[in-house]
Amino acid sequence: MRKFHTLRLLLGDQLDIQHQWFKQTSDDVCYVLAQLRQETDYALHHIQKVCAFFSAMEQFAGQLQNKGHHVRYLTLNDTNADASLDALIIRLCREHQVKRFEYQQPDEYRLHKQLQALELQGHIEINCVDTQHFLLPMPEIPQHFAAGKSVRMEHFYRKMRKRFDILMEDGKPVGGKWNYDQQNRQRLKQKDLDAIPAPLEFSHDVSSILQLLHDHEVNTIGQSTDSINLPVTRAEAIELLSYFCAHCLEHFGTFQDAMTANSPYHWSLYHSRLSFALNIKLISPAETIDTVLKYYAAGQSTIGIAQVEGFIRQILGWREYMRGVYWANMPDYQSFNHFEANHELPGFFWDAHTRMNCMHHAIAQSLDYAYAHHIQRLMITGNFCLLAGISPDQVDHWYLGIYADAIEWVQLPNTRGMSQYADGGIIASKPYASSGNYINKMSDYCNDCHYRVREKVGDSACPFNALYWNFIHQHSELLKNNQRMSMIYRSWEKMNSEDREQIINKAQQLIEDLENL
Ligand code: FAD
Ligand code: SF4
Repeated sequence: MRKFHTLRLLLGDQLDIQHQWFKQTSDDVCYVLAQLRQETDYALHHIQKVCAFFSAMEQFAGQLQNKGHHVRYLTLNDTNADASLDALIIRLCREHQVKRFEYQQPDEYRLHKQLQALELQGHIEINCVDTQHFLLPMPEIPQHFAAGKSVRMEHFYRKMRKRFDILMEDGKPVGGKWNYDQQNRQRLKQKDLDAIPAPLEFSHDVSSILQLLHDHEVNTIGQSTDSINLPVTRAEAIELLSYFCAHCLEHFGTFQDAMTANSPYHWSLYHSRLSFALNIKLISPAETIDTVLKYYAAGQSTIGIAQVEGFIRQILGWREYMRGVYWANMPDYQSFNHFEANHELPGFFWDAHTRMNCMHHAIAQSLDYAYAHHIQRLMITGNFCLLAGISPDQVDHWYLGIYADAIEWVQLPNTRGMSQYADGGIIASKPYASSGNYINKMSDYCNDCHYRVREKVGDSACPFNALYWNFIHQHSELLKNNQRMSMIYRSWEKMNSEDREQIINKAQQLIEDLENL
C-alpha cells in the first residue's frame, strides 16, 4: 500500500467541495470515503436514503479524484471486515503508515463522541477541523443556547438577521416586519391546483448500490427504485435551487403549510426539496440565502418579501436554531419524555394502511419518496403520535429512518422537541397539537376520508378530535398554566361533563385500538 503522511476522513454528510481542505492537492494526503455497516444499521433507513448517500459519496470521490486528490472510496464489500468506523480508521492508518489523521467536526453527537474517543497507535496525531458549513460557528453555540433553557426561535432568528445583515435596511427589517406569517400559510383552493409546478426530479441509476445492499442483507424500508430523484452532486443541488427560485419561491410562503391529495405534485408543492443537498453539504446555507436574495432583487415585482422572508427564516432561523438546541442539550435531549408517552407506534407507519386519509397520504408519500414537507411531518404524523402518546423513542426511530434528509442533529430536535414536546418546551412555547379542524383547514384530505372531521364521538368520528381533547385533559397538570393554552382549557371546561366523558371514553377506545384506525 502506498504511504501517505495524512489520512483525511470524509463522512457521508461532509461532501463540501468548497471546504478549505480541497483548495490544494497534495501527494501527502489521502481522503477516505467509506460505505459502512455502522452507518447503514444505526437506524432503519429508507432504501432511497441509503442509495442517495452512497451515490453522492461515490460522485464526490470521483470529483476529488478528477481534481487530482488521492482518494480511497470503499464499498460495503471493502469494509465488510471492519466492525466499526474506528476499526476502519485504525486499519487504514496502518496500511498507509500515516503520521496524522484528520476529520471534520461531525454534525452528530454519536460520531463526535466516537471520533473523540479514537485512539491510534504509533504517535499518530489526530486533528479535527470545522466543516465551515453553518452560519453560526460551533464555538459560538453556547453564547445563544444552554442546556435545558428555552430559547425562542424568533429571538435567535432576529439576531441572525442582524448579525449577517440579511433582509435588513438601516438596522430595521426590510419591509418593516420581521415576520410575514399572517400573509403566508394559506390553503390551496381548487383553482390553485393546476398551477402547482412539476418538481425537478433527477434520475440516478442506483442498481449497483441496490445489488450491494441486497448482497449484504442491509435492512431498509420504503419504496425501492432503480433510479433516485434526489440531487447527488453540487451541480444538481445548484440546479434545484435555481429551479426553486424560478418556479416555487413566488408562492413558497403562501402555500408553505398547505396539503392536498388532488395534484400529481401533491408531495412536492412549492417546497424546495433542498434539505438533503443542504444536510450533506453539497450547497451551503449562505449561498442558498444569497441566491434567493439575488432572485428577489432581480424580480421584485413577482416575488414578494413575504415569500422571501418565509424561506430565509427556514434556513437562517430554524435550521441553525435546531442545530444550536441539539448541541446545547445532547446527550440528555435524546431521552426527554415530558409526557411519559409509552405507546407503541402503530404498524401502519410502515405500510400506510390506515383509513385516516391524512395519515395515509403523509405516510405513503414518505414511503414512496423518502420525503414529506414540514406540515405533513409536524401536523399529521407528528401530531398523531403526540395525541396518541407514542413513545418518543419509537417516533424518533421512524423519523430518523424514513426521510432522506434525516440526520440526528436536525431530526431529533424537530421530532422529540418541536413535534412531541418531549423536551417540555425548550423549543416550542406550547405543544403543536391539533384536532381534525386544523387538518381540514389546511388540506383537502378530509373530503375523501373514511372518518368525519366534524364528529368527535361515534364510529365514524375523526380520531384526531377525541385524541386531541383527551390529550388536553390528560396533560392538564403540565399544560394548564401555560398562558398560550388558556383558551383551549376554557373551551374544554365549558363543555358539559357528559360530552367530556364521552370524548375521553372514545379516546381510550382509539388508543386501545390504534392498529385498526
Ligand atoms: P422547505 O420547506 O423548502 O424549507 C427550506 C429549508 O429550510 C429546508 O430544506 C431545511 O433545510 C430548512 N428547514 C425548514 N424547516 C426546518 C426545521 N424545522 N428545521 C431545520 N431546518 C428546516 N429537516 C431535516 O433536514 N431533517 C430531518 O430529519 C427533519 N426531520 C423533521 C421531523 C419533524 C417531526 C419535523 C416537524 C420537521 C423535520 N425537519 C427535518 C424539518 C423540515 O420538515 C424539513 O427540513 C423540510 O420539510 C425539508 O423539505 P424542503 O427541503 O422541501 O424544505
Ligand atoms: Fe385526517 Fe380526520 Fe380529516 Fe380523516 S377526517 S383526513 S382522519 S383529519
